[in-house]
Amino acid sequence: MTENRRSEFDFINALRQRVPSTSQSLIAGIGDDAAVVRNTAGKDTVITADLLVEDIDFRRTTTPPFLLGHKALAVSLSDIAAMGSRPVWSVVCVGVPEDIWQTDFVDRLYDGLLQLANRYGVQLIGGDTSRTTENIVIDSIVVGECAAGTSVLRKGASAGDQIFVTGSLGGAAAGLRLIERGAHLAEQNLADEDSQKLDHILLRQLRPDPRVGWGIVLGEEHIATSMIDLSDGLSSDLNNLCTASGVGALIDSSLLPIDETVIELCGRRALDPLQLALHGGEDFELLFTVKPADVARLPRRVDGVGIKRIGEITSASEGIRISEGARIWELKPGGWKHF
Ligand code: ADP
Ligand code: MG
Repeated sequence: MTENRRSEFDFINALRQRVPSTSQSLIAGIGDDAAVVRNTAGKDTVITADLLVEDIDFRRTTTPPFLLGHKALAVSLSDIAAMGSRPVWSVVCVGVPEDIWQTDFVDRLYDGLLQLANRYGVQLIGGDTSRTTENIVIDSIVVGECAAGTSVLRKGASAGDQIFVTGSLGGAAAGLRLIERGAHLAEQNLADEDSQKLDHILLRQLRPDPRVGWGIVLGEEHIATSMIDLSDGLSSDLNNLCTASGVGALIDSSLLPIDETVIELCGRRALDPLQLALHGGEDFELLFTVKPADVARLPRRVDGVGIKRIGEITSASEGIRISEGARIWELKPGGWKHF
């Protein structure tokens, strides 16, 4: 009976109750994008782990190993960014079946991972390698740092704070739908304008760009009051942020920065861009809140990526809602769930 099955959310919450959260050096434990522990040197250490499992999180047939390596690190860098912190170290564990081990798959995977690591000055310092019976499994751990007390948690938002999102929404979910329908990346030198647009969407799914620069700026400049990265989908992740902060939110759908290529290509393919932007996962943008008085301090762009105000934090009793013109309705979490 599906109704009786426990969700990932319930499992994680139960786990939280079983471990002490009172240790003096623990700033944030289970329940945020990454854990934060206090160092003696006036620095906080930030730690995150992400597991990618073949046929659950990616497919071997549609994900080139170079891009898989990129994505394995990117999702962890995104969690460190969501804490307003700087990524520093990477630890990677891989489990692969014998037939894959005999090819150059793992080498290409590390090509992609190391290229992204170099871009942000992150150093691979260890990991583990094992054999699986069938499926590829990758566990990516990233350790980051920030000045003591400057990490941005999910729980800092309060009523009146303005809600912002980096970049654009809906591209990764659109890419996944198109890949499931058989779309492939074009051969680079053959790409015409239409296949370049298609590639843009497919790469939003296959090669997410973690918002590392924005994360560091928002943390170091003390601008964001709360933050989360969009891994499960705006509706789910906004819900997580609001639950942690004990607040509600009102989103204006006309302000959502829906990916323009998604609007252009998906209308023709019977995919609803607004639904993809609200409930589609894996955009790996940052969702954060800012006090009205601090909005003017926000940079317009970081690393060429802009931000958009999409709504306002309200009191918890008002719930999490979205307006479309004069209509307002409850925004229920509808994103990705493992269980
Ligand atoms: P994200 O999507 O940001 O990576 P998750 O939903 O995976 O976050 O995890 C939410 C929180 O639960 C994090 O603090 C994470 O460390 C913790 N968590 C998830 N799975 C486990 C587990 N198996 N054991 C301990 N903590 C876990
Ligand atoms: Mg996260």
